[in-house]
Amino acid sequence: SENQAPLVIVGTGLAGYHLALEFRKLDSVTPLVLISSDDGAFYSKPLLSASLSHGKTAQQLCQTSAEEMARKLDAQILVHTRVASISPHSKTLQLQQDVDNHIADIPYDRLILATGAHCRKLTAIAGNAHARLFRINNLTDYHRFRTALVGCQRVLLIGAGLIGCEFANDLVQAGYEVAVVDPQEWPLASLLPEAAGRDLQEVLNNSGVRFYLGKSIRSLNKNPKGIEALLDNGETLVADIALAALGLEANTALAETAGLKIQRGIAVDRKLQSSNPHIFAIGDCAEVEGHQLFYVAPLMTCARALAQTLSGNPCPVHYGVIPVAVKTTLRPTTLCPPHPGAEGSWQVSQDTKGVCAEFRNSRGELLGFALTGAAITERERLISECMPLMD
Ligand code: FAD
Repeated sequence: SENQAPLVIVGTGLAGYHLALEFRKLDSVTPLVLISSDDGAFYSKPLLSASLSHGKTAQQLCQTSAEEMARKLDAQILVHTRVASISPHSKTLQLQQDVDNHIADIPYDRLILATGAHCRKLTAIAGNAHARLFRINNLTDYHRFRTALVGCQRVLLIGAGLIGCEFANDLVQAGYEVAVVDPQEWPLASLLPEAAGRDLQEVLNNSGVRFYLGKSIRSLNKNPKGIEALLDNGETLVADIALAALGLEANTALAETAGLKIQRGIAVDRKLQSSNPHIFAIGDCAEVEGHQLFYVAPLMTCARALAQTLSGNPCPVHYGVIPVAVKTTLRPTTLCPPHPGAEGSWQVSQDTKGVCAEFRNSRGELLGFALTGAAITERERLISECMPLMD
C-alpha cells in the first residue's frame, strides 16, 4: 500500500543490486529504496584489476547508470547519500547528503545492509608519502589512479595478495615497470601453498614484474619524481606512483550504530539475518555463520536465498564449493582455499606447465585446492570431489 514503509537496501554494489534484481523477480509491489554514498553506477568490480591493459576508462566500465537501474527495478535510488546511522527502535535511517550536509530521516520495514568492504590501511610506517598512496576499490578510485598514472612509468605495488597480483599482471601488460613488495615469502601466501605461489611468481617475474618478498616497508617518502620506499633490508625502491593492495575489511560502522552483533563482518545466520530480526546483511560486509568471503559467487547465492526469505519464503543459504579464478592472465590460477584453521595439509604435484595442489585432511577428504597453468584442467574433477563449505 501507499503507506507501507519500504524495503531499504543500503549499498548499490553487486550485493545490493543483485539482491534488488532477485527480489523484484518475486515481488513487484513492495516499495523498494536503495541508498548509496557513491553515484550508484552498476559495474562489475572484478574488472577493476583487469582493465588497465585494455585501456578501459571508468566510464567504459560503468554498465548501467543509477537512473536506468531505478527504472528497471521500479525502485527509488538515492545516490551520493550516506546513511549516517540506524535507529532500530523507530525503524528509521538518518541520511546525510554530500551537497549541503542536509539530514533527513526515512523509515524502513526491513533493512538490508550491503555496505561492502574498504581497503586495509598501511599502518606504522614512517615517512610523508602516505597521502600519495592509491587504493582501488570502486570506479572513482580507478578513475583517480588511471588519471594519475598518465606520464608515469614505474609503479610500486604494495601487497602480493589476490588483488595485488592481479594489478601486477594488468600493469605489466599495460607496459609499466612494476615492483611488488610484501612481507610474506610468496605471492598469495594466505591462499596458496608455496609451490603454487612460486609458480605464479616465476611467470610474472619472467614477464618483467620484480618481486621484493619477505620484506617490509620501513618508510615511504615523497621525492621530486614520485615516491621512495625504504625496505627493512636497507634497499630503496624509487617509483613514480604507488598502489596499495593490502586486503579488505568489512564496513561495519553503520551496523554498529544499530548495536548489531559484529565479528569480522556483520554477524548473520544462514537466513542472512543479523542480531536484529528486521535487519539483514549481504556481500562483503557480512559474515555468514562464520564465513567471510570477499567474492562475487557467494554473494549471488546469498542474493537468491535472501530474495526468497524477504518475499515470505524463508530460505537458508548453503555454500557449496566456491572456486575463484585469479585474473593473472599470464599464469591462469584457480583457487579454492580451505576454511581458515581447517585441519589437513597440502599435497602438491608439479611440472613445468603448472601446479596442482590438494588440501586433504587425515581421512583423505579434499577440503580445498589450488591450480596454476595447465593444471587448471583438473578444476571440474576437484570441484566435484571437494567438501562443501557448509554442511
Ligand atoms: P561494494 O561493491 O563495496 O558496495 C558497497 C556499497 O555500499 C557501495 O555502493 C557504497 O557506496 C555503499 N555504502 C557503504 N557504506 C554506506 C553508507 N554508510 N551509506 C550509504 N552507502 C554506503 N571477487 C571475485 O569473485 N572475483 C574476482 O575476480 C574479484 N576481483 C576483485 C578485484 C578487485 C580490484 C576488488 C576490489 C574486488 C574483487 N573481487 C572479486 C571481490 C568482489 O568484487 C566483491 O566481493 C564484491 O564486488 C562486493 O560487493 P558488495 O556489493 O558487497 O560491496
